[in-house]
Amino acid sequence: HTGLEMVSKAEVGKYVKSDRYVGGMIDRLGGHIHPLNLVLGEAAAVESLGGKIFENSRVTGVDMGANPVVRTARGSVKAKYVLVCGNAYLGSMLPKITDKMMPVSSQVMATEPLDAKLIEELLPANYCVEDANYVLDYYRRTADNRLLYGGGIGYGGQDPANLTGVIRPNMLKTFPQLANTKIEFAWSGNFALTLTRIPHMGKLADNVYFSHGDSGHGVTTTHLLGKILGEAVAGHSGRYDVWSSLQALPFPGGKTFRVPLTVLGAWWYGMRDKLGV
Ligand SMILES: Cc1cc2nc3c(=O)[nH]c(=O)nc-3n(C[C@H](O)[C@H](O)[C@H](O)COP(=O)(O)OP(=O)(O)OC[C@H]3O[C@@H](n4cnc5c(N)ncnc54)[C@H](O)[C@@H]3O)c2cc1C
Repeated sequence: HTGLEMVSKAEVGKYVKSDRYVGGMIDRLGGHIHPLNLVLGEAAAVESLGGKIFENSRVTGVDMGANPVVRTARGSVKAKYVLVCGNAYLGSMLPKITDKMMPVSSQVMATEPLDAKLIEELLPANYCVEDANYVLDYYRRTADNRLLYGGGIGYGGQDPANLTGVIRPNMLKTFPQLANTKIEFAWSGNFALTLTRIPHMGKLADNVYFSHGDSGHGVTTTHLLGKILGEAVAGHSGRYDVWSSLQALPFPGGKTFRVPLTVLGAWWYGMRDKLGV
């Protein structure tokens, strides 16, 4: 990676107006996007090429065979190939693969639109930011001058009762200037975590592939992995063979104890972050 640059505490202010940081690393090759618009654009591209997207039709099972069948509550589809990419929302369907990853929830909130001068002062370079804590905060400006602030973690994938309970206090630690700012939206979503944080890719049968577990960083990597799955289906399996040869390790503790053990580990590393060790 040739685009990284370390900056001192004094220089951090050029990018983030917060006293919280002792320094920073700028990624000159990184960027931020509007993920819903990306999905909508990609869906339109699929449809323009003749693809069909069926929303609100949860797959309840996949029957393996020469022509695998994907079943839903109200119908089924017979296919030549099936790509399983349901990620953290697969539930306990296909336990052979889902038992090796863990759904984890994370929360995001959006402030009311801020005065243009204020948002410019908070994030003068309009970069997106994440901190280096084990359970990290991440944030950026939106096109309509809101601050979008995320963080919080729910191992197991449950939504917290209070969506802003963790992230609002964290936002105020970063930007005490926003003490009186209203939060207009908040939501929670799940990503799939793997033990090594490396995505899992492989086959359940000759014509049934899977890829998931981008561990909270999938906006870019899923595009690469999607391409690799496409290459494999088209018969060019070089890059697929490399990815699928990586060992997919289960979490210690199995399905019953993986969540409490991971919570314990996160608590330990969170304490180290608080103590600065
Ligand atoms: C709050 C939050 C913030 C994040 N921030 C970032 C970030 O800043 N940068 C970054 O790179 N990544 C981020 N991530 C992670 C990123 O969103 C994921 O890594 C990425 O979306 C994974 O893509 P995917 O296609 O594998 O799975 P998903 O995007 O989860 O898509 C899986 C799809 O499969 C569908 N599905 C599941 N099961 C079934 C079924 N049985 N039948 C039919 N459909 C099914 C789901 O409805 C869903 O549409 C964040 C995640 C969350 C939750």
